[in-house]
Amino acid sequence: MEKRPIIELNDIIKRFYVGQPNELQILNGISMTVREGEFVSIVGASGSGKSTLMNIIGILDRPTEGSYVLDDVNVIAAKDESLSKIRNRKIGFVFQTYNLIARTNAIKNVEMPMLYAGMGRKARVERARELLDMVGMGDRMHHLPEELSGGQKQRVAIARAMCNDPAIILADEPTGALDSQTGRMVMDLFHQLHEEQGKTIVLITHSPELAEETEKIITLKDGSIIGERKGSGRACLS
Ligand code: ADP
Ligand code: MG
Repeated sequence: MEKRPIIELNDIIKRFYVGQPNELQILNGISMTVREGEFVSIVGASGSGKSTLMNIIGILDRPTEGSYVLDDVNVIAAKDESLSKIRNRKIGFVFQTYNLIARTNAIKNVEMPMLYAGMGRKARVERARELLDMVGMGDRMHHLPEELSGGQKQRVAIARAMCNDPAIILADEPTGALDSQTGRMVMDLFHQLHEEQGKTIVLITHSPELAEETEKIITLKDGSIIGERKGSGRACLS
């Protein structure tokens, strides 16, 4: 039986105002569905609108036109306050540049969203340790970001993204700054979250090999979806 849709976009248009009288239309009517527990990738050339689309999916930005239902919530109709609650509870973000706080160590970085959510110190530390162990960073939790490699920083960022146990992970080129072997490890972590915890994952990637490992590949060109197909699975490592 097919799982229920968790992300449903219909005819999404995004225009950016770039000074009178110009408006730049970046997304030209995007319709797509992601089902609960699905692992989807979005591919396309630089400038094709992938991050703009991801920001709309993650409710970091609103579309100019179109409809968006996220886990049965009508995002277009909802007020900003309730949207930030939904975002914090349901979505974990992972970015190419990690977006860790430079001045503070790994465990404090992971604790940060829980601190803002008002969780007590003991519960916070316990959860952060558990998450850092999960991503294989338990022995580096007191290191500053600058003392960690790119792959290690990304693993800390993934631990942080998981702290509210979000149903959905949105990753915008998470392996873009990593060498292929390190990128491979990060990708394996996404597979693990997908397979063992049933996370819904939307991954933007420039790597055709990594995209192929996901269940569905959506190709974007100049702000339109030009293709959608199944991935062929993980490469055989024989
Ligand atoms: P991708 O992630 O696929 O590289 P983006 O979604 O970042 O593409 O950008 C798509 C296009 O939209 C680019 O041409 C970019 O310059 C433009 N763009 C993105 N954000 C803005 C903005 N805030 N204002 C104006 N143009 C923007
Ligand atoms: Mg981008």
